[in-house]
Amino acid sequence: MKTTDANLWGIDLGGTKIECAVLNASNPAEVLIRERIETEASLGYTHILNQVKELVDRVSSQLGHRPSRIGFATPGVLNPRTQTMKNCNTVCMNGQPMAADLAAILHCEVKLANDANCFALAETLLGAVQDVNPNAEMVFGIIMGTGVGGGLVAHGKVVSGLHGIGGEWGHNILEEDGLACYCGKSGCVEHVISGPALEQFYFNQTGEARRMPEIMKRYEAKSDPAAEATVERMLENFGRAVSTLINVIDPDVIVIGGGLGNIDLLYSEGYNLIRKYIFNSGEVLTPIVKPKLGDSAGVFGAAMLFA
Ligand SMILES: [Zn+2]
Repeated sequence: MKTTDANLWGIDLGGTKIECAVLNASNPAEVLIRERIETEASLGYTHILNQVKELVDRVSSQLGHRPSRIGFATPGVLNPRTQTMKNCNTVCMNGQPMAADLAAILHCEVKLANDANCFALAETLLGAVQDVNPNAEMVFGIIMGTGVGGGLVAHGKVVSGLHGIGGEWGHNILEEDGLACYCGKSGCVEHVISGPALEQFYFNQTGEARRMPEIMKRYEAKSDPAAEATVERMLENFGRAVSTLINVIDPDVIVIGGGLGNIDLLYSEGYNLIRKYIFNSGEVLTPIVKPKLGDSAGVFGAAMLFA
């Protein structure tokens, strides 16, 4: 079978599924093929590599050619110094020389990027950013859901940084005396405004376990002071945390993915609270938008790593 770089191949290496998408290099909006396979992460690291190979073999035989290079969206990042993985919630990947192993098993060039960075790249080049500012030089993609993370894109490229932690604003400290985070510090952004953190805050007031969509409903019904306190906490701290992002990077567009990114109040009340904290006399012009690509952003962003 011949090998070609005529198309853009991307793989999203998730904890439960591995997805491959092949895009037309001359028109990346055209998806030539999409295929997925179970990760079966509990069977270990070598099994994951073999699943990737199985998927690439399958897609190659459908297309009639093999890729010369593949971009990967991964949980965690490749440590640029040691070339091994770190910060992966699929923990068997941590410490592994994954880029080298994938290149060896697939016989092609590979590029790895954190899934939040791939989200930001896809929304920049193929998604929401194209609608509001196709010439955007700097884009920040916020992930706000079970965890809080992010990715930075500059001039159409992912910026992963010296340590590989570019965009990781979720572990900036927001409340010095806040709750202990698994990262070893206290009061991280993630420990204040992630879904689980806000649900915990609500639980601490009421002794009742409720999920964020329900807390939002109770807030809107104005029937529950604890729900109001929870939402106010989210908005206030969103304003604080995003203002520091803008102070440092001043991106042309911000896109908010993750489960909480659907909350409309972030784009109205939350946006107003950025004005309170920003170093710009209260003026905020940054478009903050919802993503457009949904679950496809990771795999499309992976494919665009070689665009
Ligand atoms: Zn932390």
